Amino acid sequence: MAYLFVPGPVDVDPGVAQAQARPMIPHRSKEFETIFHRAANKSKALFGTQYRVFISTSSGTGLHEAAVRNLSKERILACVNGAFGKRWFDVATTNGKAADKLDVEWGKPVTAEAVAEALKQQHYDLLTVVQNETSTGLMNPVDEIAAAVREVSPDTIVAVDAVSSLSGAPMKMDEWGIDFVLTSSQKALALPPGISLAAVSDRALERAESVPNRGWYFDLLRLEKHRIKNSTPATPAVALVYALDAQMDRILAEGVEARWERHLAMSERVQQWALERGFGLFAAEGYRSYTVTTVANTHNISIADLNAFLLQRGMRLANGYGDLKNKTFRIAHMGEVHMEDVNTLLAAIDEYMAQ
Ligand SMILES: *Cc1c(COP(=O)(O)O)cnc(C)c1O
Repeated sequence: MAYLFVPGPVDVDPGVAQAQARPMIPHRSKEFETIFHRAANKSKALFGTQYRVFISTSSGTGLHEAAVRNLSKERILACVNGAFGKRWFDVATTNGKAADKLDVEWGKPVTAEAVAEALKQQHYDLLTVVQNETSTGLMNPVDEIAAAVREVSPDTIVAVDAVSSLSGAPMKMDEWGIDFVLTSSQKALALPPGISLAAVSDRALERAESVPNRGWYFDLLRLEKHRIKNSTPATPAVALVYALDAQMDRILAEGVEARWERHLAMSERVQQWALERGFGLFAAEGYRSYTVTTVANTHNISIADLNAFLLQRGMRLANGYGDLKNKTFRIAHMGEVHMEDVNTLLAAIDEYMAQ
């Protein structure tokens, strides 16, 4: 039974949590290098990449920083239609990078047309876009966006934040022409917080070679030099790597595509319930998230009271993000959440509303 219907941190399988309790071993040992290599290699299937996956001892935002520090020396186009797209823009500017926003109304998708238009006006060497805007419950069509970039501005590197979507929604990095995809452990991967993963193409690494001031901790070339030896420049989160290794076995046993389907089915169930109860859906039709549904609170129910009611049964959902607080609420259905958990939650919300 999953209890956390918030978009991270989410429930962790007890066996995966237990894997962290294995005795520590030195990170510069054959034993650890074997586990590190195995865990990263297994995760490639989730990204749809033949390239490499870095395991970073940081939350996902650290890899926002890695992307801007390594992949741009000219100007960044940051697609913003939610809080996390905005954060990536802020990470760029606070790192001293030149960046422009491609602003789109929250709840509406960033389209391939809008991206193509922006790239015709001005040259950008890096484009950043969030696949699944956790703040709005909207999935941007990153496949179409990448195709537009490839056509209009072939040398622009495409970087995608798949923090709350990876393993819960389709990602075909190589096929779609994406160079950099990052995710965090505590969202759809259903691991404890503390590590993040980045899949990085050869093209992206070649770009990094020409970018000055990449820093130290998130320097992709330094990370690559060590990764080839199944290691890291600094001490990795050993216990979380054990957990990733264990969780990847569970994910691959479920099947990458079966896992996407499970998340899609849960999202459709929640959307249908919301509409049947006379609620709205914040994200535009056709772009609704597989992993988190943002319900427009048209009945003006108190989200705090609802959550207090749910907490008596050990469940929690999330209020709206930022300005959307109380105007919306969010039901995350990711990771260890299954359809029966969703049904239990929705029945409890119905009970609350019938009071
Ligand atoms: C949670 C989230 C982040 C931030 O990730 P951290 O691991 O907390 O740094 C970034 N992008 C999206 C889409 C998120 O949902």
